[in-house]
Amino acid sequence: MRDRFTRKSRTTRGSIPKHMRREVYRRDDRVCVYCGVECRAEELTIDHLIPLALDGLDEMTNWATCCRACNERKAAQPLEEFLDSLAMPVEELPVYGDPVIDNPAIPKQLRLLRRRIFDRIRRGKLAVSGKDAQKKLEKVYRRDLWETADGKLLEAEFPSLPGQVRAVIPEIRSIAKSKREFLLLVELAKSALTRSLIGSVLTGDIDVEARVRSMRKRERQHAMRKRLAQALRRFERAVRVTPPE
Ligand SMILES: [Zn+2]
Repeated sequence: MRDRFTRKSRTTRGSIPKHMRREVYRRDDRVCVYCGVECRAEELTIDHLIPLALDGLDEMTNWATCCRACNERKAAQPLEEFLDSLAMPVEELPVYGDPVIDNPAIPKQLRLLRRRIFDRIRRGKLAVSGKDAQKKLEKVYRRDLWETADGKLLEAEFPSLPGQVRAVIPEIRSIAKSKREFLLLVELAKSALTRSLIGSVLTGDIDVEARVRSMRKRERQHAMRKRLAQALRRFERAVRVTPPE
């Protein structure tokens, strides 16, 4: 979910680029999420679990491989209604492309917490849709997070960090390979624009600092370049104040 923190929705709703379609089919082994049949090429479609007409997200987390027949039967029905007709529990539907749910380095309790939010949305019990869907989802996640033992620990450990930054500490921990990287990722988390890089562009298998420095030089988008430069400056100050061992 690349736009998780920037709240930008894709501009051309409903037209999923070819390479992303291929990724979804590969991810799902070309098996229809509803009937379990392996699709031939001409039967392959992508279903928006929560229909676009009902303000579903046009995002990885809301896309699933679906055979043509199931897609036609489902049409614009609410997801929970269609699942009821199949006697399929919502918990059986996968959540893909979420940076927390499938990340084994994040405490299981938090992954389940987030999973339950998706289930609530899919059951129509939680209205998270439209332009600000991402923002609302993260808000609900944070509200639930502070009620958990892990959330309370984070609050005690990082009392001076804003909640939006504190909430992504488990993700930052799963990426950072050193204290330096940790400090840099925390600074990046302070702006929604650079926070969106965490877990999407900046992952555990790259040299985070080198990537951020090269992005600051090469990035075309002015706002992003500016935020990267600001985060790097704060990071350098933080390193001077508390040199990482
Ligand atoms: Zn099917």
